[in-house]
Amino acid sequence: MGKPKKGPREKDLTSRYMSGGLDEDRVESQERFSPSHKARQQNKIERTAQMRAGEESGADIDTLPIGQVIQVHSRFSDVEHAGKTYLCEVRKTLRRISETQVVVGDRVRFRQAPLDGAQIARRAQGGPIVRGDMQTAIIEQVLPRATILLRADSFKAIEQHPIVANAKQMLIVASLRFPNVKWGLIDRMLIAAQSGGLKPILCINKIDLIDEAKSSEDRVDPRAAIAHYQSMGIALLSTSATSGVGLDELRATLTGIETVLAGHSGVGKSSLINAIQPTLDLRVGDISNFNNKGRHTTTSARRYPLDFGGAVIDTPGVKLFGLWGVTSENLQEYFPDVADGSAPTWRAESYERIAASLE
Ligand code: GDP
Repeated sequence: MGKPKKGPREKDLTSRYMSGGLDEDRVESQERFSPSHKARQQNKIERTAQMRAGEESGADIDTLPIGQVIQVHSRFSDVEHAGKTYLCEVRKTLRRISETQVVVGDRVRFRQAPLDGAQIARRAQGGPIVRGDMQTAIIEQVLPRATILLRADSFKAIEQHPIVANAKQMLIVASLRFPNVKWGLIDRMLIAAQSGGLKPILCINKIDLIDEAKSSEDRVDPRAAIAHYQSMGIALLSTSATSGVGLDELRATLTGIETVLAGHSGVGKSSLINAIQPTLDLRVGDISNFNNKGRHTTTSARRYPLDFGGAVIDTPGVKLFGLWGVTSENLQEYFPDVADGSAPTWRAESYERIAASLE
């Protein structure tokens, strides 16, 4: 038998799960952050949050309009303000202050200005087409971030990068079957959200398949797991994009709020969002994480406004979110059940695995 072929939209999910591409233990063993690295990372981001424009940007900075970054393509970003989208570049003096990039959700002060035509042409080759009527501007200042979500690079073990700023909550979508739920990964995502200041909402999708569901750990009864998270006060939705169960609650949960979508390919994120807003064509899978040369781009998050208010920020291709300032010493803050001795075995084991990965 030859190697299974991967279609561009990776329809063959089975081969991906079989290949171990999403193996929880492998992911965990690759994410080892030393405390000094974490401290450095934290300083770097705090510097970004406070970064001010250099002298050349002038004294009028506080009068400049504030926009929101909705997409980043290497050094260019799309900034939305008053219903218009501006193609922006960060002022060079700002870029030198910090290696940290502007990320989706950042609130920035910008000044309308022509951009170097050659650079725009380059963007047109590597990224989306630049529309002729698009206005251009320079980002002069990045405002402090209220929340932060990190992307951990599972290939370069110690690297983690900010990917989304200022989102209020994270919808962690898991499916009961195809692919099976991995509760250990859910625990990591819960901590990634909480440590970055986002409210986690657990969305257990494909609830129509609950009777044939079995977790990868085999021993965990999904009904018991759901009840356990609820008992800890975690917001939880049970949904089915196919039968419509839970969709009204999902819509109500997303209305008027900036929500990051998290969860692996195939769990039903696009189906859920399309079910509550059919006009929104969310891209599926990993393709947007690669540019036209097939290489990884540095960011892969995109903000989609919702008709009924608020927005979802999709993070296609992100397999692992980083934990913000979490150490093996303070990990119990995120495991109140372990702290008070009420954790079932699978949660205690999940705690041990995450603690080991932080040492
Ligand atoms: P995404 O990669 O997370 O965006 O997942 P998709 O929305 O592309 O869904 C992956 C597959 O799961 C598709 O074949 C969907 O039809 C199917 N699917 C999505 N939601 C449900 C559900 O609630 N129940 C069942 N049975 N299948 C679902």
